Amino acid sequence: MKDDNCIFCKIANGEIPSTTLYEDDTFRVIFDLNPATKGHCLILPKEHYENLTVLPDETAAKVLPLAGKIGKAMEEALGAKGFNVVQNNGEAAGQTVHHFHTHIIPRYGNPDEMVLWKPGTSTPEGLREVCEEIKGKLG
Ligand code: 5GP
Ligand code: ZN
Repeated sequence: MKDDNCIFCKIANGEIPSTTLYEDDTFRVIFDLNPATKGHCLILPKEHYENLTVLPDETAAKVLPLAGKIGKAMEEALGAKGFNVVQNNGEAAGQTVHHFHTHIIPRYGNPDEMVLWKPGTSTPEGLREVCEEIKGKLG
């Protein structure tokens, strides 16, 4: 399924031209318009899925192998020293385009390049409690 109002549907299916790093029947890999670093790419499925919670397992299973190949090529071609694979789900998590996509962000060793969060604290009871809450919905 495609969504007529979705920019990534249009890009992934070639309706809007893009610089394409990789393409197969399932995905198109493009460069982010506002790259975090040189080479920052996005893996887009050609079908419209809002986020990871509705992505078919078969498609999801292909994302990480592809991300790994692209990351390795970034290290070899661009001299990246590592790369982040980032995938945002929901506005609260920073998702701005609501067509599932995976960021591959090469890192060059600069301190301000990290994906950051503020480490918190935990207790064994707190972890057990949250574990039980989530487990109840895992099935
Ligand atoms: P999100 O925040 O949803 O995980 O990431 C969306 C990403 O898509 C952002 O990094 C943004 O720069 C990129 N983006 C938004 N619109 C376009 C576009 O039209 N073309 C390309 N190549 N990237 C886009
Ligand atoms: Zn879409």
